[in-house]
Amino acid sequence: MKKVMKTVSEPSSSCKHNWKYSYYSGQTIGFRCTKCEQEKERPTTASEKYLIREDMKKKDDTHKIYHKFVKKFQDVIGNYKLHGYDLICSVEKWAKRYPTVTIVSCDDNYFMGSDLVFIPHEELNNYTGVTVIFIPQRGNEPSEFFLYPGHAVELLKTMKNIVSASKNIKNKEWSPIK
Ligand SMILES: [Zn+2]
Repeated sequence: MKKVMKTVSEPSSSCKHNWKYSYYSGQTIGFRCTKCEQEKERPTTASEKYLIREDMKKKDDTHKIYHKFVKKFQDVIGNYKLHGYDLICSVEKWAKRYPTVTIVSCDDNYFMGSDLVFIPHEELNNYTGVTVIFIPQRGNEPSEFFLYPGHAVELLKTMKNIVSASKNIKNKEWSPIK
């Protein structure tokens, strides 16, 4: 998206910091302040749409692996082709081809072994964040969320706090720190 970031004009903003291209969602284009993290969006212009389309065609696309995931596991309107255990097995097999994709085990709300799939959006000089896909084993529709680098740091901090607080729990069987 580097070429696009250089060519789009920034929205008029209340702060005097640098604003960066943040996301594109077809009809709108989003910007984010690099310092105070305000966000703004405005309609995408025709020339931007063209540039973004051209940019997405490029092989070394930041969102390449995520797009491959979507293409393989979802139909044209975004519904998953497989669910539950079948999807988990299929995604685990697919992920072996992508060393940057990580799978972490978790439980769904029926206490059945499920997967969290982490797909980074990155290329050589650009890192946008990570998509996390929750695939419950008991057949419900998977859900996903996206973490910008700042959100990932917050999540990391929260998990570290929770895990270190569990050191004080008397029942060691449930504590991740032995
Ligand atoms: Zn700012």
